[in-house]
Amino acid sequence: MLNKDYVAMTAGESVIRKMYMYGLGRAAQIGAENVFDYSLGNPSVAPPAEYTDALVDLVRNENPLLVHGYSPNVGMMAARQAIVDDLNKRFGTDYTVKNIFMSVSAAGAIAHALRAVVTPELKQNVITFAPFFPEYRPYVGGAGAELRVISADTNAFQINFEELERTIDEKTAAILVNSPNNPSGVVYSTATIDRLAQILTAKSKEFGHVIYLISDEPYREIVFEGVDAPFIAKHYKDTIVCYSYSKSMSIPGARTGYCLINTEAEGYDDFVNVCVQISRGIGHNCPPTLMQLAVAKAPGALSDLKVYEENCNILYGELSAMGFEIVKPGGTFYMFPKAPSGDATAFCEKAKEFDLILVPSDSFGVPGYFRIAYCVPTEKVKRSLEAFRKLAALYF
Ligand code: PLP
Repeated sequence: MLNKDYVAMTAGESVIRKMYMYGLGRAAQIGAENVFDYSLGNPSVAPPAEYTDALVDLVRNENPLLVHGYSPNVGMMAARQAIVDDLNKRFGTDYTVKNIFMSVSAAGAIAHALRAVVTPELKQNVITFAPFFPEYRPYVGGAGAELRVISADTNAFQINFEELERTIDEKTAAILVNSPNNPSGVVYSTATIDRLAQILTAKSKEFGHVIYLISDEPYREIVFEGVDAPFIAKHYKDTIVCYSYSKSMSIPGARTGYCLINTEAEGYDDFVNVCVQISRGIGHNCPPTLMQLAVAKAPGALSDLKVYEENCNILYGELSAMGFEIVKPGGTFYMFPKAPSGDATAFCEKAKEFDLILVPSDSFGVPGYFRIAYCVPTEKVKRSLEAFRKLAALYF
């Protein structure tokens, strides 16, 4: 007999994937160049040359038994060292290899971080803020906790603190945040993070146990000009950072990332070894050696991320002028305008008539919005404006 919980999940098809599949079908009919597919968060710029060169060099010139061999469960020492050195240089921290566990990208990092801090027998909860990445549901459920969602602050997509204070209780194991945010594109300000840290410190004291902050930050490097983007781990001691190179280096297929715990955090001494044990249990052990070694040779390398800001400026300016209400993104490659009809699904269905593939907001935990993943070539963004104009004309 198959596990009934997972069988039940097969009914809940991802709306993002559904839209993406529709776009592929339409592209086969009318040509990909005529479909404005804004459904998927797949980077649209090439990986940095340093990364590609490192990969080629490793494959051609290094010992094949090393580069194609097993990684230690905890990750390759060279990668862990290079990554903490890079973080220390950029953020003035003093991490060592003892702070870091290499993972299969951000998804793997979050799976480990959640399992490290949740004890299923205690019937704990993990809190996140709408709008949120829909995969948080299976991530948190799979770790044996209840996901509690704080409703969105739709004025600025920062944090609805009143509701947070009412919702945290003695069963709260962790808060899961994502900034820069998928899907809103908004970056939590220093003031937001500091207020969150104050609340978590007070609540940890009140309940007599630590409440961890799990900071999911795959978009950390995609921040636009002049935007305040704090390194969250510096603002709350009990932070676990979950990172991936999927977006900053455009290598989601390489599945490379890490979990990093602060030295001052409760459980620091055991955290990395606990992650090793978790990886044995869930079978996500020994992340790909070659990919880790390539990152180790270019830990701070970035794709040409400026393209996303250019796309954002075009879409934000033009769509606002058409009448759409949008909180201006501070980073990522997502935008989250209000659906003018109030019915996001109906609006995204209507958009299909103009070959605009958009994602309705309901699965992100907020009704009445739609997500534009503008990780597409800028010339296509420009060509899509006519389709947006025709769509807008039906509503404004
Ligand atoms: N968290 C957020 C907010 C994301 O948007 C994504 C991917 O799009 C992930 C986690 C998973 O990242 P990865 O594919 O690197 O595991």
